[in-house]
Amino acid sequence: MSSDRLSEAQRRGVRELLRIAPVIDELGARFQSAGVPLALVGGSVRDALLGRLGHDLDFTTRARPDEIERLLTGWADATWDIGRDFGTIGARKGEWTIEITTFRAESYDPESRKPTVTYGDTLDGDLGRRDFTVNALAVTLPVTRPERVFVDPYGGVTDLVAGVLRTPGTPEASFTDDPLRMLRAARFASQLGFAVAPEVVEAIRAMAERISIVSAERVRDELVKLVCGAHPRAGLELLVSTGLADQVLPELPALRLEVDEHHRHKDVYEHSLTVLEQAIAQEQRVRTDGAADFVTRFAALMHDIGKPATRRFEGGGRVTFHHHEVVGAKMTAKRMRALRFSGEQIHDVARLVELHLRFHGYGGGEWTDSAVRRYVRDAGPLLDRLHVLTRADCTTRNKRKAAALQRTYDQLEDRISRLAEEEEINRIRPDLDGNAIMELLGVGPGPIVGRAWRHLLEVRLDQGPQDPEAVRAELLRWWKDQPESSG
Ligand code: ATP
Ligand code: MG
Repeated sequence: MSSDRLSEAQRRGVRELLRIAPVIDELGARFQSAGVPLALVGGSVRDALLGRLGHDLDFTTRARPDEIERLLTGWADATWDIGRDFGTIGARKGEWTIEITTFRAESYDPESRKPTVTYGDTLDGDLGRRDFTVNALAVTLPVTRPERVFVDPYGGVTDLVAGVLRTPGTPEASFTDDPLRMLRAARFASQLGFAVAPEVVEAIRAMAERISIVSAERVRDELVKLVCGAHPRAGLELLVSTGLADQVLPELPALRLEVDEHHRHKDVYEHSLTVLEQAIAQEQRVRTDGAADFVTRFAALMHDIGKPATRRFEGGGRVTFHHHEVVGAKMTAKRMRALRFSGEQIHDVARLVELHLRFHGYGGGEWTDSAVRRYVRDAGPLLDRLHVLTRADCTTRNKRKAAALQRTYDQLEDRISRLAEEEEINRIRPDLDGNAIMELLGVGPGPIVGRAWRHLLEVRLDQGPQDPEAVRAELLRWWKDQPESSG
């Protein structure tokens, strides 16, 4: 079984390397002729073995940033400085986005928010500083030798085949160097569907608080990748169970307390994860390109975070959460501001949270046209996402209840599109107005003007937009057949 999976990974890897050979061979040759070795590394090698390599290629080399830039100039379509201090130069070549990083031996100053970078001299040393063994893989690119050399000093391929995230050294040392790696473990659990090794989970649990020294932007970028991964539940459950979520997204673990005294209300935390998964299942409604839609996903995850603060135990074991959507929208915006999201993303997610209950006033379909119009107008460009969120926000086990809700929502969507169509049609006007008609026919105000106008509207609806001369000619032709016309 495991050897089957190994040879499968090898086949995928070879296929992917052949696919990218034109670009990596050219680049390898350029570096080789300058006497510096280059290696494909990290996520690119991992993704090649998993058969999921995209258009990003990561390389590592002994060359320092200035020399990397010099070697890229004249070959790449563009180069840019991702962080000279971090030793990374970016480049574009056709469809490929390339990042070349100088070998490093980096370590975190425990008091500082920025990793301090020191350059290293060996590939193995560089690989030893990487976050997980599956990312500590390299393929060297000696173009003059018949074979490329696969470098795997930490058993990364074994872990890849087993689907496990393990650190090259001890997880404690690794997370001391850069606490962001704890969050990256959860991110890769989501993206790759890998398990996290028990000693890594233990280290995260013990060291979770250290994430506080990492900048909000770095945390945000990993959270976005986690939420947009194929298995966000796995990543989120790891965050919550290790206490990392208490540091980066405390609203999420807070939902676990929301089981009422009679256990009538399901655990809101569990409900939120299910809503997220149900939203993902409908994502193609908002993204035709098959990509993940962060805004919809995050709104699904956050939609009920106002519940703990608004919970009231009423008489008779009843529990209410009045205005939790309004409170939740505010809490969402606050959290997203702290994580330095863009104003637009904050607005969109918070607005969806605020609107997520609106539909429930729809009941048996007794909304007036104006209520439907207001629903559409308030959602604005978020309407498709609101459809997804609202439909996803139904986790009842009662099949009849669920089917009824979906049917009611079908009806609402139906009415929305009928109304939209009608109103589009209502906005259509003939190409001549009353004054132009009176002028062309030489008549004053009277019923004939209205009849002429309606005739032109019929023509317009039948035939679509016309050129002005044709419209005038049509009006005169119609006029000749009218009894009021004197000839
Ligand atoms: P993707 O690009 O799909 O998000 P990736 O694995 O390429 O995933 P990047 O953040 O692009 O991740 O980093 C590229 C490589 O650099 C990783 O594969 C890993 O080897 C290394 N790396 C990145 N960040 C860290 C870190 N904080 N600590 C250690 N190694 C890291
Ligand atoms: Mg990458």
